[in-house]
Amino acid sequence: MTIETSPAQSSPANMLAQTDPVIDPFGRAITYLRVSVTDRCDFRCVYCMSEHMSFLPKKDLLTLEELERLCRAFVKMGVRKLRLTGGEPLVRRNVMQLINNLGGLIDSGHLDELTLTTNGSQLGRFADQLYAAGVRRVNVSIDTLDSIKFKEITRWGRLEQVLAGVEAAKKAGLQVKINAVALKGVNDEEIDQMLAWCGAEGFDLTLIEVMPMGDIGGEERLDQYLPLTLVRSRLAKNWTLEESNHSTGGPARYFDVKETGQRIGFITPLTHNFCESCNRVRLTCTGTLYMCLGQEDAADLREPLRISPDNAIVEQAIRDAIAHKPKGHDFVIDRRQGAQSVGRHMSVTGG
Ligand code: SAM
Ligand code: SF4
Repeated sequence: MTIETSPAQSSPANMLAQTDPVIDPFGRAITYLRVSVTDRCDFRCVYCMSEHMSFLPKKDLLTLEELERLCRAFVKMGVRKLRLTGGEPLVRRNVMQLINNLGGLIDSGHLDELTLTTNGSQLGRFADQLYAAGVRRVNVSIDTLDSIKFKEITRWGRLEQVLAGVEAAKKAGLQVKINAVALKGVNDEEIDQMLAWCGAEGFDLTLIEVMPMGDIGGEERLDQYLPLTLVRSRLAKNWTLEESNHSTGGPARYFDVKETGQRIGFITPLTHNFCESCNRVRLTCTGTLYMCLGQEDAADLREPLRISPDNAIVEQAIRDAIAHKPKGHDFVIDRRQGAQSVGRHMSVTGG
């Protein structure tokens, strides 16, 4: 198969046949790339960043063309699923240009899926365009349906705007999954209600445990941490949860919710190890490739990308990087270690 050219990949040397996926040292095929297209965001969620977060200088960012070229290199090397995230992916200027071009890889059969994780604030504007570009599913992060709490959690967000965005996504034909971070003393009493709302709207719900990433400016993660084992046993009092073998290629363990016909997923990096089946790597908006969300191992792809318009050098850099993918993460929330076990923010690596 030959990948069609685009302005980002005009060199004939880069129009190569798609290869089998690259396999890491533990036998895992790397078929899933998450791309943080910006570290910037229009919200300031308390568990994600401090209110006075300093963002990367614009000059350090890859251009949209460079991001596309890297995505194409990964696709050529066997990646079948791309998820754009951030920061907030939909606040990057001209992001639709990237999404439209990557969507073309679905049409040509090189990619199975192009998806996004978004805070939903811009979905009202972009839902139709996303569908037209070939996106079929979006994950929208909503931790509470109480507009006052929503403001407290996101600091700058407005629940009404996000719900309108979700509605627009639904109307455009996008399948929506809701992501909610479980936060002790904040939304723990509300998870039943969120599950009921998702059921009524036809959305799956995925709950995420707070992960110790990045300085969040005085907030204490030990205070935010709510083990999902506890949430699940509480939910089981009101709902029939049947273990499901459904997988979206992500780390969530899913259960069918009999009463609603939808699913609930649990992402529990701190109480359960999801690393054995990890098929993904993460690319930041500066061209750093992280082999694991919970480890510092990284490789720079920006320099190899910029050295030559031919992709041979960057492809070799990708292969070398994946050859060092660690077996698993070491997340710990521990008072002795402090609350932060990975220094970078989730908004840099992409959730
Ligand atoms: N801005 C988009 C959003 O909020 O969906 C995409 C980026 S955000 C970093 C991706 C996901 O990571 C969101 O669902 C967010 O709730 C989650 N997240 C951010 N910081 C986290 C943390 N420290 N622990 C667990 N989840 C976190
Ligand atoms: Fe922004 Fe998403 Fe982080 Fe919230 S979780 S601050 S919406 S990047």
